[in-house]
Amino acid sequence: VSAFEAVELAPPDVIFEITAAYDADQSTNKVNLGVGAYRDDSGKPWVLPVVKKADAILRDDKSLDHEYLPIAGLPSFTEASARLAFGGDSVAIKEHRIASLQSISGTGANHLGALFMSKFYKDGKTPCYLSNPTWANHKQIWNNVSVPLFDYPYFHTKTRGLDIDGLLSAMESAADGSIFLLHGCAHNPTGVDPTQDQWVKIADVMERKRHFPFLDVAYQGFASGDLDKDGWAIQYFVERGFELIVCQSYAKNFGLYGERVGCFHFVSKNAETAKKIKSQIEILQRSEISNPPAYGARIVSTVLNDKALFNEWYLESYAFEFRYRCQNLREMSHRIIDMRQKLFNHFQKLGTPGTWNHITDQIGMFSFTGLNGLQVKKLRAEFHIYMTQNGRISMAGLNSSNVEYFAKAVDQVIR
Ligand code: PLP
Repeated sequence: VSAFEAVELAPPDVIFEITAAYDADQSTNKVNLGVGAYRDDSGKPWVLPVVKKADAILRDDKSLDHEYLPIAGLPSFTEASARLAFGGDSVAIKEHRIASLQSISGTGANHLGALFMSKFYKDGKTPCYLSNPTWANHKQIWNNVSVPLFDYPYFHTKTRGLDIDGLLSAMESAADGSIFLLHGCAHNPTGVDPTQDQWVKIADVMERKRHFPFLDVAYQGFASGDLDKDGWAIQYFVERGFELIVCQSYAKNFGLYGERVGCFHFVSKNAETAKKIKSQIEILQRSEISNPPAYGARIVSTVLNDKALFNEWYLESYAFEFRYRCQNLREMSHRIIDMRQKLFNHFQKLGTPGTWNHITDQIGMFSFTGLNGLQVKKLRAEFHIYMTQNGRISMAGLNSSNVEYFAKAVDQVIR
């Protein structure tokens, strides 16, 4: 008899369950709108051309070996990551107020942040507030470090937009100094972001209540194609003088999902504190992963630190108009924006009941369609269309060959 007989069978991960069911489906019309990874217009994963070039450069570099990276990661990577998140002219960078550590993608950055807060923020029992709904992993990550969790209202079911009043009043009534986990851009799963005016209101309340901003930024540049626009909230909170955490992922904006490349940043009030914080987080990192993996960080560092490669990955939108070559970030973000428009147009053409402007108002990989559980079930059973029960679709799963099919299917299950 095993000493672990009492261990209960856990339910399968929802997204992986959807993918397995999709894979097993024999229909030629099948559509997978569950998975949170970019697909090109033929429904295939896309290796960014700039990543291929960086890869070739690394393969030619005879000075590289397989030695361990430092505990905090590759310095050229963490420094470039800070410039990306906080801006090249960031005062916080110049004043050495940021502790940056390479992490196991965005998930690892979230975990390091949660672990650090549980050990060093007040008594470790200060509640953390998560948006309702949020990325499902947030709950598991914070539960693992035994920090009390609460929800704050986020999604307004009627408008399918932001419930700003609910959000602000939750911030007002939370105990002073609470942790608020905010999605820096392209909120997952709703695709609904605060406007800049709303971010100002959020910062006002947080400042007055001395709440701690914990910013999860998994989609910078991937959402709008504009790094500054998507990074606006980060830079605004830093300008306002908050101490805060930023979790960065390169899964989406570099398409490096499986390489697990991310960065954790703690912005402090002064260089002295940042140094002490970094030393403590290094100990946490050492006990968990010793040191982060090298390959993906080298790819990102090669691109971010080379002008020509950087421009190929991203060129500011105003300069873009003068170039013919499609920039990698723009190609991904604009294909998704284009799909939102096409889907909306199809609904208009079909006269699908309800309002659909939320499809084009929402941003990033995901959209909360407003479809209910029953409709989601019907789409799967009758049309071989796969998505999560809450009606979230990954826009990246749509393409020129299936967007009309999807729109017509939705139209039918709604009527
Ligand atoms: N945070 C949010 C809100 C996300 O949507 C994701 C990815 O889906 C992540 C973090 C981190 O993903 P990864 O660990 O692959 O970088």
